[in-house]
Amino acid sequence: HAFTGDLPTESRVGELVAEAHRRYTGLHDGQVADYIPILAEADPNWFGLTLAGVDGSTHAAGDTDIAFSIQSISKAFVFALVCERYGHQAVHERVGVNNTGLPFNSVMAVELNAGSPMNPMVNAGAIATTGLMPGATPAEQWENIRTGISRFAGRYLELDGVVYHSEMLTNQRNKAIARLLERYGRLDTDPLETVDIYTRQCALAVTSADLAVMGATLAGGGVNPVTRERVISSEVCRDTLAVLASCGLYERSGEWLFEIGLPAKSGVAGGIVAISPGKGALGTFSPRLDPAGNSVRGQRACAYLSRALGLNLFASS
Ligand code: GLU
Repeated sequence: HAFTGDLPTESRVGELVAEAHRRYTGLHDGQVADYIPILAEADPNWFGLTLAGVDGSTHAAGDTDIAFSIQSISKAFVFALVCERYGHQAVHERVGVNNTGLPFNSVMAVELNAGSPMNPMVNAGAIATTGLMPGATPAEQWENIRTGISRFAGRYLELDGVVYHSEMLTNQRNKAIARLLERYGRLDTDPLETVDIYTRQCALAVTSADLAVMGATLAGGGVNPVTRERVISSEVCRDTLAVLASCGLYERSGEWLFEIGLPAKSGVAGGIVAISPGKGALGTFSPRLDPAGNSVRGQRACAYLSRALGLNLFASS
């Protein structure tokens, strides 16, 4: 099996996933997000872990069938879809690839950088990226995003209408960011329509198992390990993983890379996807977050498994 590489056996990998779950179940640090009102209703005890190999094998522990909103993790996959369409250079120039060092919803990051959204993993860059999605109308753009993200998951993802409506009532800051981008010439679409699509993409419902398969598609050069469909090119996978390494965990991306050594993306509903290029991916779900917006148990579980499975990209032995 490609994922297990030189590890002893498949069953050992399964044991380690179960052990990661057991170790951090008792960890209750962090707070469930509440700036989107409905997210505050999540059960803080939910904790699911799934590991998917590029060979299609999976190992799971805990609440792997609880659906939650994908939130910012959608940014990684929409970026990949837009890169596939426009290419490396155009996206680099339009959106940027440098970390802001500021919170994900920062207006100052745009102002301090002469209108550049800086990178596709903060809200400004993600909204600019969503605006680039092919489609003659906002409805078509949304449908292309939904079917595109679904191809990574290998099943048609549902919109969580309750999350979408809840966020639409409280997303004034994202609307302000979109207006600012429009003024700086970084958005050619209608700003409010684009924020609407962005809010929908964030409200797609996934499980930790979906995240693992989506990540394993990026790990496997763009081929979904379950459906065997080619979703994007291997060049786009490489570019997406590079952006995730520098910007995937908000302003904590440096610490994450230092501790875990894998490209990853987190979302405020409590999901994390961490990708091991050529091998597979981890999908984790636990709603309690650190102050930057990253799942506390998800980070610990990824750190443990990265070490136990020898996944850190910077380790030479
Ligand atoms: N929809 C959320 C927002 O725009 C996503 C935030 C996140 O997961 O970081 O605020």
